[in-house]
This record gives sequence, structure tokens and C-alpha cells, in this order.
Amino acid sequence: MDKRRFLKTAGILSAVVVLSPITACSVKNTATAADAPVVAEGGALAANKFVLPELGYATNALEPAIDALTMEIHHDKHHAAYVTNLNKAVDADVEKYSGRPLEDILKSIKVSETAVRNNGGGHWNHSAFWRWIKPGGSKVPSQELSTAINAAFGSYEAFQQKFEDAAKTRFGSGWAWLSVGNDKKLFVSSTPNQDNPMMKNLVDISGIPILGIDVWEHAYYLNYQNKRPDYTKSFMGIINWDIVDSYYKNALLG
Ligand code: MN
Repeated sequence: MDKRRFLKTAGILSAVVVLSPITACSVKNTATAADAPVVAEGGALAANKFVLPELGYATNALEPAIDALTMEIHHDKHHAAYVTNLNKAVDADVEKYSGRPLEDILKSIKVSETAVRNNGGGHWNHSAFWRWIKPGGSKVPSQELSTAINAAFGSYEAFQQKFEDAAKTRFGSGWAWLSVGNDKKLFVSSTPNQDNPMMKNLVDISGIPILGIDVWEHAYYLNYQNKRPDYTKSFMGIINWDIVDSYYKNALLG
């Protein structure tokens, strides 16, 4: 990396730390930030080497809701593959993607950018997913988030119904989401494959996701087989609402 590129990259990274609340949140909540650049030997920044974040807890920590083997394969194989393939896709077009934070890339992703869309989405979505179900934390939303949920959906129960319905009715593979819209109000949606609501060019209604459930079969099939509704219901009981709340607060700032 030449000096000019290094300075440009370092400048962008500094701005990210200051301006991107979700990135800051990521740093706070895990040992390894999902979209943080690898600091290579000698301190030079390899800005586009995305890394697989550690799960941060035992693979059996969420049993019986999610079994250990599912967690292990999901994190060590599926998520790892998204990271590997994202790095390949970014390496294939360095001029376009060099030095850009993942969220910046995803917010402007176009339908033509298939590899970065699928693998960048896969990396962001799973990095957040492991945190949203991290053991510990509050089992209910904060007062502030409860108020917002009630304002948007009428009650927590109504929100849960809408979220579970979005998860259950997503045809094929994808995700269901709770997000903060441009109007700062909460909404529930679902997306196919590894898309997410921050991909403005690809979704009907865009926003910042603060909670998501992976409804790809690889997320539940070993334990639940075809019973996605049972998995969805179990998922609601393992949400770490402290972390969702931190995503919510950051989304309000963003
Ligand atoms: Mn998955």
C-alpha cells in the first residue's frame, strides 16, 4: 500500500470510528469487530481483509433452543465461507471496494454486484446474529425500546406475532428483521437470501436492522427439520435485548 492510499484508508477508518455507531457498537460488543480491518504485520492496514468474528460463547450455550452442532457448522463453515468469498470478491475489484467499510458497501449495493451482495450481506448479517442471541443480557426490551415497539405495533405481543409471521412466511432462504426506518420508527420486514434492510437499492422499505432471525434451513434443520415456526418461537426466547437495545440507540443516532 502506498503512502497516499494508506492515509486515505486511515482517514476513512478514523471517520468510521467516529461516525458509524453500529461499527462502534460492534467493537464494544465483541473481541473482534466484524468489519474491522486486519492490522497486518508491521502495522500496515489491509483494509479489505474481512475477518470471521469469534462466536464469543460456547456452541452449546443456547441449547436447547439452538443445538451445538448447528451453531458450530453455522459459524465455522457457513459464516466462514461468506468471509472467504467476500474477500475474494473485494480482491477482484479493489478499485471499487478498497478502504470502504462493509456497511457503506451494503448501503449502496446494486443488484449487479452479486458476489459482494451475497457474501457481504452474509458476513454482516451473521456477525450481528451471533450478538443478538449472545447468552446473558436482558430478556425483555428496555423501557425506551418497549415504548417504540408499542408505538409501532401496539404491543410487544403484536410485534412478536408480526416478526414470527415474517420469519415463517419468508419463502425459501432469508431473514426476518426488526429495523429503524428513515422516520426513526420501527418496522418488521423480511428479505431473501443474504439481503438486509440497509440495502436501499434492493428492498421495498429500507432501514437499519436492530434484530434479525436467520431462517435459512442451515440455521435450524438439524434440530427442527421442517418446523421453522418452532425454531422461530424458540429464537424469541434467546434474544439478548441489551444488545438489540444498543443497536436501536445507535440506529437512532445514524
Ligand atoms: Mn445462516
